[in-house]
Amino acid sequence: MSTLLSNGEPEAGAVNEGAVRETCSWELRAAKVGSLDIRRALPVRDRRLIGPWCFLDRYGPLTFTEGKPMDVAPHPHTGLQTVSWLFEGEVLHRDSLGFEQVIRAGELNLMTSGRAIAHSEESPRGASGSLSGIQLWIALPDADRNGEPTFEHHPRLPVVSASGAATSVFYGAAAGERSPATSFSPALGAEIRLPAGSEAELPLDESFEHGLLLIDGDLESNGGRILGDRFYYLQPGNASIDLRSDRGCVMMLIGGAPFGEKIVMWWNFVGRSFEEIERFRKEWDRGERFGEVKGYRGSRLEAPPLKPRIPPTPAS
Ligand code: MN
Repeated sequence: MSTLLSNGEPEAGAVNEGAVRETCSWELRAAKVGSLDIRRALPVRDRRLIGPWCFLDRYGPLTFTEGKPMDVAPHPHTGLQTVSWLFEGEVLHRDSLGFEQVIRAGELNLMTSGRAIAHSEESPRGASGSLSGIQLWIALPDADRNGEPTFEHHPRLPVVSASGAATSVFYGAAAGERSPATSFSPALGAEIRLPAGSEAELPLDESFEHGLLLIDGDLESNGGRILGDRFYYLQPGNASIDLRSDRGCVMMLIGGAPFGEKIVMWWNFVGRSFEEIERFRKEWDRGERFGEVKGYRGSRLEAPPLKPRIPPTPAS
């Protein structure tokens, strides 16, 4: 059983016993994706990966009456999977394989870049006017990262209802249910809903490290209050996590076996060396390798200048 700590410091009332697997948290940082305000939870300086998860952006909740709050022009990816998961609203995905797919709350868009893919993401015409969601990236293991690109849309995902919590498993496996999404390493991605006045003990895979993000409502975990503007990390070795909510809440849980491979992330590329990243960038510049996204109105994103020591903001 773990105790949730802030920045490695015990919170008031926290118990730090010998068996406790230490946990820490950090503040989400504000960034922009196009004109959309986002809050980035991963990566941070001291934590690049949680299992294979290497990127987590939170956007919304917001409302709009005109325009497209989400408008990310065609851009390339390598060596990763992108997970799009919404709580409200719609996002239209288009990619260089020819897929065009609107995603809504509770549905999964999963894009596997393999060696190379390009895509755009935007608020579709006739959108409801609300938007709230997350975008995640999963690093592909070396053995799979040069495979063929694919795209999957899963409109229905397994929901496990146990001890007061409803858990939608959108990636990997949890509580005996497995997401239909294609995965390449042991991992978990789930949305958990707790009704008002409920308590639940969620079993965890002890070999996994985990990350927890409160999306809406109030949450206490293992005796500590969980804040919506922070991201919580749990080391491997936790067999379960206690959750309690007074008013009800929605939260995200990601996890996985420690990845064990060193990755290099630059802009929207995941690779293994700077030379490789340099080549991906050149190929995108020249219109090679990634194919073309058809149907998007406007020009594609240009790769930022290559400055080895300064990783540019990803387009997500
Ligand atoms: Mn992207």
